[in-house]
Amino acid sequence: MKKFVLLALAVAVLALASPAHAQDAGLRLGMSRDLGYAGFSNDIEGLFSLRAEGPANLQRVEFYIDSTLIGTVTESPFRIQFTTKDHTPGERTMYAIGYTADGQELRSNEITRVFLSPEETRGKVVELVVPILGIVVLLMLLTTVLPALLTRKKPQRGTYGLSGGGVCPNCALPFPLRFFSFSMGARRFDRCPHCGKWVMVRRAKKDELAEAEARWAAQDEPTGAPLRTSREDEQIDSSRYEN
Ligand SMILES: [Zn+2]
Repeated sequence: MKKFVLLALAVAVLALASPAHAQDAGLRLGMSRDLGYAGFSNDIEGLFSLRAEGPANLQRVEFYIDSTLIGTVTESPFRIQFTTKDHTPGERTMYAIGYTADGQELRSNEITRVFLSPEETRGKVVELVVPILGIVVLLMLLTTVLPALLTRKKPQRGTYGLSGGGVCPNCALPFPLRFFSFSMGARRFDRCPHCGKWVMVRRAKKDELAEAEARWAAQDEPTGAPLRTSREDEQIDSSRYEN
């Protein structure tokens, strides 16, 4: 009984193993890239190798591309090199026929690839490289332009940009509001270039700016203060008209 079970097992193992044996007896064709391009969707261009593997008594292998014999190899390793540019671009099917010492003829599996012309490959490479370059340029912009936007040079008194000027609630000095600053209602969140504080500041009116500029001028030139004199002149002028 035990012997019978063992026999049954042996038969089962043989039955399972036999298809593999049948494959081993055949000819397997593989392809590798030596120098060139192998893209997605089976596109190839350049120098490639075909390699056939078969039974120990394999004597000769013929390699075919679309039923054109490209070469015969009579000793192991059964390997042949080819360049795609020797063949017309398009879909090509490669296979090999092997001959054993005992006169068997073995046909290999087929490998189908789309041969590209060098021009087509350049196009494919450009398709791949351009988005990558785009990302690189974007990163460069982000790392150079963004800091330039965030850092600012010392403002000049009396000159304000597109967004106008604000008066810092911390140090009471005027500075141009940044165009790209974060705004909440009428107020913007911006960094004061004088005291370095991040402050909520609204766009100041002309006279408020003038007042802050005078404060700034007084700080810079404690003795001269030419701006103040001109403001005093203005006051004299306006009082003249009032009377
Ligand atoms: Zn400030």
